[in-house]
Amino acid sequence: MNRLAGHVVIAFGCGSPDGSTNNGLAAARAFAREGASVCVVDRDDTAIGHTLAALDAAHTTPPPRHLGVRADVTEDGDVAAAVERCREDLGVPSVLYYNVGIVVNGGPEELPTESFRFALDVNLTGAFRAVKEVLPLMRKAGRGSIVTVSSAGGLRWMGYDYPAYAASKAGLLELTNSVGLAHAHEGIRANSIAPGLIETPLLRTSIAGHHGSVEDMLRARHAASPTGRMGTPEDVAEAAVFLASDESRYINATVLPVDGGLTHA
Ligand code: NAD
Repeated sequence: MNRLAGHVVIAFGCGSPDGSTNNGLAAARAFAREGASVCVVDRDDTAIGHTLAALDAAHTTPPPRHLGVRADVTEDGDVAAAVERCREDLGVPSVLYYNVGIVVNGGPEELPTESFRFALDVNLTGAFRAVKEVLPLMRKAGRGSIVTVSSAGGLRWMGYDYPAYAASKAGLLELTNSVGLAHAHEGIRANSIAPGLIETPLLRTSIAGHHGSVEDMLRARHAASPTGRMGTPEDVAEAAVFLASDESRYINATVLPVDGGLTHA
């Protein structure tokens, strides 16, 4: 229960817009449960409030301090200011968790180029901005674990026509690997998680607009999983804690699918 004691996690995109347990809230709560101080960064104040309330409920002794900072990851200045607030109020982040992700559906013929660019800006360039700000602090401290949330859709065709999402998530894998390889000798590791089908509102968004009703497609997805069920945000959160913590100290520049085996089925 103390695998992240003394750690400061800066957790981008870990708000919960509707208060449900999405991947971000579950990960932030797991970090807090393990003793970390968590800086929840999101574009949405309400979403931040929902996650902070969940952190307060995750009683640990002594209770770590948490913080919420509103920032849009498409803005250089917002990201820089969020990292600075985290450093000032909680301390130098030892863990960077990049969970921000939007689904942009549509193939090249129907998707405006601007929408493609926007998906990359949020899902990929935002991570670059976060790394750019956090890396110098981690290098100075001589330690750090960077964990980015990619997707099974960044590893293989998942049956959805969403090349903008797939390309952004594939790019995120290589951004992460590059950072992990370039800075391993300075005590910094970087790894990705590739969730498969996780029951969250975002999954419904990614399914909506494709052929068939959302409920029918969800049933089909359940059946398609080798385990016979879809994943939960808590399944992803446990992988996040492992990659963030020293338990994964010799794991670097790799991707951990959390998908019940779907990627290789
Ligand atoms: P979510 O939409 O509930 O959470 C994403 C959060 O990112 C939201 O709180 C949102 O406000 C925030 N955000 C969006 N744009 C932002 C911006 N410009 N600046 C700052 N914050 C911004 O989604 P989720 O289901 O919790 O998914 C989280 C991550 O997991 C995403 O990266 C997603 O691609 C990935 N993922 C999810 C699934 C799934 O099945 N749910 C599968 C694979 C990967």
